[in-house]
Amino acid sequence: RAKQEGRGTYRFFEARMGAQVRERRLLEHDLRMAVDRGELELVYQPQTGGEAGAVVGFEALLRWNHPSRGSISPSVFIPIAEESGAILQVGEWVLREACREAARWRRPLSIAVNVSAVQIHAPNFLDLLVAILRETGLAPSRLEIEITETALIRDPSRALTVLRGVKELGVHIAMDDFGTGYSSLSNLRTFPFDKIKIDRSFISQIESNHQAAAIVRSVLGLGHGLQMRVIVEGVETQAELAFLEAENCRSLQGYLIGRPAAIETFSALTMGGTIAEERLVA
Ligand code: C2E
Ligand code: MG
Ligand code: MG
Ligand code: MG
Repeated sequence: RAKQEGRGTYRFFEARMGAQVRERRLLEHDLRMAVDRGELELVYQPQTGGEAGAVVGFEALLRWNHPSRGSISPSVFIPIAEESGAILQVGEWVLREACREAARWRRPLSIAVNVSAVQIHAPNFLDLLVAILRETGLAPSRLEIEITETALIRDPSRALTVLRGVKELGVHIAMDDFGTGYSSLSNLRTFPFDKIKIDRSFISQIESNHQAAAIVRSVLGLGHGLQMRVIVEGVETQAELAFLEAENCRSLQGYLIGRPAAIETFSALTMGGTIAEERLVA
């Protein structure tokens, strides 16, 4: 009887696995056509910085409007795209689209683009970056690529070569989700990062968890010592903002500052003229 049950459980498990694999294949298949069908879209989330804590740029975040399933989260489809290799085509679209958009803005704000490990390790990544910058006319210093530490692990020496090339172009590099991966401090020293993005899980716990607050403080100090900028992701509440202001941190990203949205939402920021020009219009 136990044996029977065991077999039943196994069959159930097998069936479920089969369903998951099929589901994955379906998404993989659809994703391959998503770019050509125009189903991908970028939304933009403001980032503050500088002395005054004004909006200094945006992060581009990918959205997939699936024809029958509606909007699918990047945390669902990016891993699938990475495994199937579709990320190369998708990532190229993202880079080009984000650079093209930012090049249109009247204000020279920065644009941060997430780049996956698979893209970094593709043999033509640097050439592609050069081509897209040339094609869109975006000043390289306005572009920042965000990569996670996992992008460095597969082939660190290759990653180092590529990232040095990126830096040489004048493009900035941010370490995304800091604190969630291996967070080897030597990565910060070895790789040419300009910026650390403290993962949102830390800020969301600063009130309830002393360690989280201590970690945020320490990483702010670490960045300062290493002459890197540090931005805190996922700022949602006034209390979190007050904590960060007390720590003298003006580089913030999160729902409190602004949710990711269509770029038109932010046209006063991206297209707004100088104060003198605004007065002329009014
Ligand atoms: P990420 O790069 O760490 O992006 C930050 C994520 O946190 C975004 O989720 C953003 O919408 C969300 N977020 C921002 N502020 C807050 C907040 O205050 N509270 C909460 N709860 N969430 C906040 P999203 O857009 O779902 O993206 C998830 C992840 O998918 C990204 O994490 C990134 O790793 C990946 N991703 C998104 N777009 C791209 C892309 O174009 N290429 C690649 N390779 N990955 C992407
Ligand atoms: Mg990011
Ligand atoms: Mg992040
Ligand atoms: Mg992330």
